[in-house]
Amino acid sequence: MSAETLRVRGLSVSYGDALALSGVDLDVAPGEVLAVLGPSGSGKSTLLHTLAGFRDPDAGEVWLDGRLIASTEVSEPPERREVAMVFQNYALWPHLSALDTVAYPRRRRGERRADARRQALEILERLHVAHLADRRPAELSGGEQQRVGLARALACRAPLYLFDEPTAHLDTHVRGVFLEELVIRQRDSGAAALYATHDAEEALGLADRVLLLTDGQVVQVGTPEEVYSCPVDQWAAQLTGPASVLTGAVTSTRLLVRPEWVSLVPPGGDSPEGGRGQVEAVWFRGPHSEYLLDTARGRLLVREPGPPVHRRGEQVGWHLRRTWPLPVSGTGRPQVPSSVAGPE
Ligand code: ADP
Ligand code: MG
Repeated sequence: MSAETLRVRGLSVSYGDALALSGVDLDVAPGEVLAVLGPSGSGKSTLLHTLAGFRDPDAGEVWLDGRLIASTEVSEPPERREVAMVFQNYALWPHLSALDTVAYPRRRRGERRADARRQALEILERLHVAHLADRRPAELSGGEQQRVGLARALACRAPLYLFDEPTAHLDTHVRGVFLEELVIRQRDSGAAALYATHDAEEALGLADRVLLLTDGQVVQVGTPEEVYSCPVDQWAAQLTGPASVLTGAVTSTRLLVRPEWVSLVPPGGDSPEGGRGQVEAVWFRGPHSEYLLDTARGRLLVREPGPPVHRRGEQVGWHLRRTWPLPVSGTGRPQVPSSVAGPE
């Protein structure tokens, strides 16, 4: 009996000669959401498809609730794995209405048609698509099909949910509603979830832990705060959010600076914690503004609340409140967080 719902060890998957996943290890605990964050082509879909049973491993093992479901010897068919998956491309049945699609998982468990449909309607209501209940996929837009696919997954009662970039076709507002709904469900059901996305904000906002994937390999696993604040290398830093890399003031170290770790100050004397720079670009983002500064130590992105107060070409002063040392080679790992301004 293992404590994890999902346990993956040494998982490798290839397409012909091309290795799409290589030696992947991961665990997901009951009730936990693990975001798999990686750029396009990094192997996210391959990982989820292998867990769901649509591809077989070339090496490694997949355990679900303490049961071996995939290895080079074992391949439990998809319908026997208790896994609910939302695909990147909706995969709805063309002949079923939205209501029957969402009612299907409960019907399959033997629930009465009226009960299953009532529950299905509730879920469609929560995702704001109840008015589409009678339509078939051909009568739905891409975003609407995606919401029906999500509603169907939420209607399942599986110990493991797999989401493959499920919000790609959704408007920001609907995306928020869905993510809230997902988190509420998750907490209530004690199910585990793997959530694949290339969107750092989404991954950091919804996951308990984030796994960074590149070229089929795990680069880092940690809490959202850990992968954002203490990335293992520059690649991880750039994948998890906006990042500037400055050369150290004294030694030749490379320092990661997030836009909110630096503030603008009235132009003054240089110090190890800051300096002066010229504004190269300004962006108004609504709740805050961003400035790109050209400084002696590199280009620096700065985030300040409110609308812009400086213009292109102006000289401004900046001050670092926090930094994170990046390994020079990309192979070593930074050890301790650095806070140049002392405790925060
Ligand atoms: P992601 O979902 O992160 O975009 P994928 O898992 O789809 O990544 O792809 C990982 C790698 O495997 C990519 O290099 C992709 O080109 C390759 N790949 C994916 N599906 C196939 C396939 N059916 N046949 C051959 N190569 C594939
Ligand atoms: Mg994909």
